[in-house]
This record gives sequence, structure tokens and C-alpha cells, in this order.
Amino acid sequence: MIDIDRRVREIYETLHAIPEVGFSEYKTAAFLADGLKKAGYSVKTGVGGTGVIGELAGDGPVVGLRADMDALVHTVDGVEKCIHSCGHDAHSAMILTAAEALAANRPAKGKLMIVFQPAEEKLDGAVSMIDSGALDDLNYLLGIHLRPVQEAKSGQATPALYHGASYIAEAIVTGVPAHGARPHLGVNAIDAAAAAVGAVNAIHLNPVEPWSVKTTKFQAGGPTLNAIPDKAELAFDLRAQKNSVMDELLAKLPKAVENAAAAYGATAVVTVKGGVPAAEYDQGLVAVARDAISAVLGPAGLLEPIITPGGEDFHYFVKRIPGLKPAYIGLGCNLTPGLHHPAMAFDLSALPAGVRIMLEMVKRILD
Ligand SMILES: [Zn+2]
Ligand SMILES: [Zn+2]
Repeated sequence: MIDIDRRVREIYETLHAIPEVGFSEYKTAAFLADGLKKAGYSVKTGVGGTGVIGELAGDGPVVGLRADMDALVHTVDGVEKCIHSCGHDAHSAMILTAAEALAANRPAKGKLMIVFQPAEEKLDGAVSMIDSGALDDLNYLLGIHLRPVQEAKSGQATPALYHGASYIAEAIVTGVPAHGARPHLGVNAIDAAAAAVGAVNAIHLNPVEPWSVKTTKFQAGGPTLNAIPDKAELAFDLRAQKNSVMDELLAKLPKAVENAAAAYGATAVVTVKGGVPAAEYDQGLVAVARDAISAVLGPAGLLEPIITPGGEDFHYFVKRIPGLKPAYIGLGCNLTPGLHHPAMAFDLSALPAGVRIMLEMVKRILD
């Protein structure tokens, strides 16, 4: 038996002292890989970049526990510093501690897969691990994230964090240059781009569903103020609480921009620069998460599911691995002043409960 309270804190303190940005988590990955090996896992490193997978063979369903590893760069007193301001050090500490406890006290059946993912903040760490093919066999995947105090306090947890889908698109509008005295010989890209903004603002989707699209960049014109500009650059931030609504928005946006530009004789090319899908959970597994949280924190600690406008690349796993059942817990820990704040701090004594919730869930899935 391992001492969960002591181990999770020890591992956290080691990881907290070596923050590294996405796809550069070399020391973090080496430390976690070493921990998994010592616990008896067969370990793969360099998965999708700096990802680490530990496997404990067994018959039956394949249950994965996933944590992210990367930190963020902040400017503090004029100096750039890498800081674990999103708590990924805490997530990795909870998952490695749970992995050690599971190796010491193995479930009756099933194969365990411990997944340490790089570059969550860059939103392509999950995809790079999925693309490696190493996670194709997963049947269940459990994740956990610290929550700001406004959402959950120490002694509380939510069985499902409903992140929204979030994408960025860019558009290049091309007109025809001309002398300012002879605008009829050109096509003003600003006119076309302004029309494109209007057309995007006139997109309508079912108002019952939460969604939004906003123009976040409009750059056009140059140093020559008596010439008709032929280039404009636009960017859009797209949000939707459901993937089906985001699909509709992603289909309507290019048409709105291209057709509006075409009305002025300009052309527009829209490129989706990337993003993350919305959370889609298996309700059976959310029920398991509820039971696990109640068992660890008592019924008073069980919060309702939380809807959050933030994005999380965890949701690529369910989008890309057929049949995967995911669950994603939000852990209260009196976290202030907020995630992604360079002075982010939380109550370390909340971490053992996170480990125990993960262990309860694995037990309920496999026993
Ligand atoms: Zn973050
Ligand atoms: Zn995070």
C-alpha cells in the first residue's frame, strides 16, 4: 500500500519545481516515466512528441488515466518565466500517485494505461498522441482538472466539466489595387472585408443553443493613403457549447465571408486555424463519477456538472477514438486568483481526494 497523501505531495513538489512548456516537457516526462517503471509499468516515451504511456497488462476493458504535463510562460517583473499556472503539475502528480496505488493493489481485471500528455495549452498535444496510434485500444479515459474557487472549493468536485468547442478562423480578402483618384478601376479590399464582417454578424443559428462568433482582427490598408488597398486580413473567434452547432457555424462562416467579398468583386479565402471540440460525456460514466465523488468527499462534496467557456484538448480523444467513453472531473481546491494567473495558488491538501476519486472510478469500472 502506498501513502497517497505523502506521495501526491512529494510528486507535486518535484514537478512544480521543473515547469516546462508544451512539447518541451523533457524533465517532466523523464521523471514520470521513471516513476511508472519503478511502479512496474511497461513504459513508452516520446509518444506524439514528449508524451509518456505506462501500461499494466490484463484481460478485459482498457482503462486510461490521463494528465497533462505542460506549464505556461508568464512575464513577471519584466522577466519571462515558465510557471505551472494551470495546475498540470498537480494533475500529473495525482495520476502518477493513482498509477502507483493501482500497481500495488491491482483491479480484478482490465488493462491500465497511464497517459501523460504534452502541450495541452497549445491544444495539439492530445492530437499528436492520438495520431501515434498508441491509444487506439482505449475503452475508457479519465481526466481531472483543478477548478478556480468560484466554481468549486476544497472538499468539492464536479463529475463533468462541460467545456465548449472553440475555434479560430482567418480570412484573407483580396481586391484590386488602384489610384485613389480612379477607384472604379480597382476593388477596395476594405469595402469587401467590412461587408464580410457584416455578413458574419448576420449568421443565425438556433438561439436555444449557446454559440457566438466575433471578428477579432481587421487589418487593411498600408502606408500609401491615396491608393485603393487590395488586401485585408480578418480573424474570427468561434464558440459553441455543442459540436453539432460548431459544425454548422464552421460551414456557414466561409460562405458568409466569401459571398460578401464576391459581392464587391473581391475574393476571400477562409482558413480554420485550429481549435478544440466540445465535451461529450458518456452519461453512464458521469454516474460512476458521481458515485466516486460521493464515496470520497461525501454527498455534500458532490457538485452538479459545470459548464465552462474554456476549451480543453481532452475532448479530441472521444472525437478521434471510436467507442471511447470519457469522464473529466473538476476538483475544488480553493484555487485563487485564477487559472493562467502567474500567482495561481491552491490548497495542496485537496490533491489526495483527487487521487482517491480516480481510484474509486477505476474500481467501479473494473471490479
Ligand atoms: Zn490552461
Ligand atoms: Zn489546464
